[in-house]
Amino acid sequence: MAKFQVYRWAVVVGMAAWLGMAPSTPRSAAAEGEAGLQIYFVDVLGGAATLVVTPERESVLIDSGWPGQGGRDPERIVRALKDAGCERIDHLVVTHWHMDHFGGVAGLAERVEIGRFWDRGLPEDGIGGVYPDGPKPDDPLGIAYRKAANGRRSILKAGDKLPLRSDVSAVVLAASGETIPTPAGARPNALCDSAPADHEPDGSDNAQSIVLKFRLDDFDFLDCGDLTWNVEKKLVCPVDLVGAIDLFQVTHHGQDISNHPTFLATIAPTVAVMDNGPRKGGSAETVRRFKALPSVRAFYQLHRNAETADADNGDPALFANADPAGGRYIRVAVAAGGKSFTVRLGADGPERTFPSK
Ligand SMILES: [Zn+2]
Repeated sequence: MAKFQVYRWAVVVGMAAWLGMAPSTPRSAAAEGEAGLQIYFVDVLGGAATLVVTPERESVLIDSGWPGQGGRDPERIVRALKDAGCERIDHLVVTHWHMDHFGGVAGLAERVEIGRFWDRGLPEDGIGGVYPDGPKPDDPLGIAYRKAANGRRSILKAGDKLPLRSDVSAVVLAASGETIPTPAGARPNALCDSAPADHEPDGSDNAQSIVLKFRLDDFDFLDCGDLTWNVEKKLVCPVDLVGAIDLFQVTHHGQDISNHPTFLATIAPTVAVMDNGPRKGGSAETVRRFKALPSVRAFYQLHRNAETADADNGDPALFANADPAGGRYIRVAVAAGGKSFTVRLGADGPERTFPSK
């Protein structure tokens, strides 16, 4: 997102901090005897923080929310981590260098042990990447990240895999604007014939986002960070490099410069979860695109978009937070063998089960 938007949102988020929040009583994963793959979409009010926990209780956090706010986002992440039965973050992935994605790192590092850090590279790494939005040497968040990650950082490129001790795989499909190569003999994706026109190239760090696909047997989950239009299209045109997806994190908090229609139609998600805030993301156009997708059986939102009409939001029964201050996550539990997955609002809210493809 643009910097002025980031600052505007930092102020709004600050004003909303903690007011009206009520702690919930979680049903812990361990107490329920659940040992499958779990995914938590932590509510960081229009930032991103997605926690993936393997059946072996290895934890992967993709993005860490906003800085400041009295440690609001790190606290929310740590609560989800404990609800998942974990004591530490084994892998922390930063999809790109925007403060709603890596701003929570310093606060997290004060609260919990972080094993390894994965990112797309820093300007000083000398790998030839582009860093339009820093982090610059005098950026306090960049300084905090470098300090927390010192000696434990690795760079992710398209085609890399996170080294998980699990049957769960985590593959990088794109990073720094590059996608995995097209396999020899791959057939063209017919949906590309009707793809909308490209946008002007996106010079921001959004286009550089790391894209991670998790798989456990039949189940696939995709998180594209804040990836934008042209690179999304590269992932499915002329050849589909992604495959069918069961659970999809709506890209870029639901902004419509992301969520390319041909990309969405190709990956054909069964369930989509949008990590929007009450006043960030969740655009009417994006909601329309998901409502028009025949594959989508449920469209979850962390918040109702307060700035658009009811008709431009999804089903209110699938909103995680009625309170604009939020704090309630959306939790997904994948059955053994990946045959199905259950989506729950918060630690103790209503849930629905969906078959995997
Ligand atoms: Zn973002």
